[in-house]
Amino acid sequence: MLRYMNTYDFPPYRPPNEAESALIRITRGCPWNRCTFCFMYKDIRFETKPLEEVRKDVNTARQIYKAADSIFLGDSDNLTHKELPEIVKHIRKTFPEAKRITAYARAKTIIKRKMGFLTDVRKAGLDRLHIGLESGDEVVLDWLCKGAKPEEMVEAGLRARQAGFEVSFYVLSGAGGRNRWKEHAINSARVLNAAKPDFIRLRTLTLKKGTPLKKKLESGEFEITPPLERLKEVRLFLENLAVNKCSLASDHVTNYLWAGGTAVYRGITGDLPEDKKTMLQMVDKAIEFVESTEEEVKDSNRLYEEGYFTAL
Ligand code: SF4
Repeated sequence: MLRYMNTYDFPPYRPPNEAESALIRITRGCPWNRCTFCFMYKDIRFETKPLEEVRKDVNTARQIYKAADSIFLGDSDNLTHKELPEIVKHIRKTFPEAKRITAYARAKTIIKRKMGFLTDVRKAGLDRLHIGLESGDEVVLDWLCKGAKPEEMVEAGLRARQAGFEVSFYVLSGAGGRNRWKEHAINSARVLNAAKPDFIRLRTLTLKKGTPLKKKLESGEFEITPPLERLKEVRLFLENLAVNKCSLASDHVTNYLWAGGTAVYRGITGDLPEDKKTMLQMVDKAIEFVESTEEEVKDSNRLYEEGYFTAL
């Protein structure tokens, strides 16, 4: 793969669970690019790649990846590409062995797209959409500048499922800050209960230099949710979740908490509703530890400041 690093158009970001996937870029950047916590595509002008260019990339991808069980399509909002059904068909033909093709999608774009387009994309072979919910709380969504209301997040999830996609929602733990973690937890669970996703994935808000939210932190307008409150937020969120046949994962290093150089909490993972009790016990154990330890408990923000994380 290394010999293609300078010649193949690799998407710069992918979900953690797509680490083993073949990567194919359909669009570049983000058409919204305004979320106050996001740093991912700030220097990239959004564009949809011409069909012929994507076809060539797919053929090159076949040479790079000797076998592809799963394929992820970059960048942040591929449903904006009008020729996505043709592209996905070509990928399926080129990678007949692929068991899964997934892509990021913005809630607003899912709502805007006609149901016929969504079902065409699904029938062509795109299986799963990763949607950034971040929060189900209207106030939090506003200050994140997410560009979608809680009810639109629900609508997007339901429409995607109606079109036949598996739906994976990302929740940004800590997004409510010190002063709104309860509302963030309860309302995020409420939206997910209504949207009925197949997967919920937690990441923790980690403020990177230069982002608008980091500037608000520096000016005192925003306060990071401290480790203990963040664990309580996760607990309250989980308590309020009432979803079925849904996998919950904390598959990102930002969810970890450290004390004395060791990870003392790695997030919760399990199937809902059956693993709820076990996951609650895991969070309770972490809360007990944080409340009783004399060590300083560090989160991803602290480690980022200390220079341990460069890319998140
Ligand atoms: S979080 Fe997603 S929608 Fe928001 S700016 Fe970043 S890539 Fe775009």
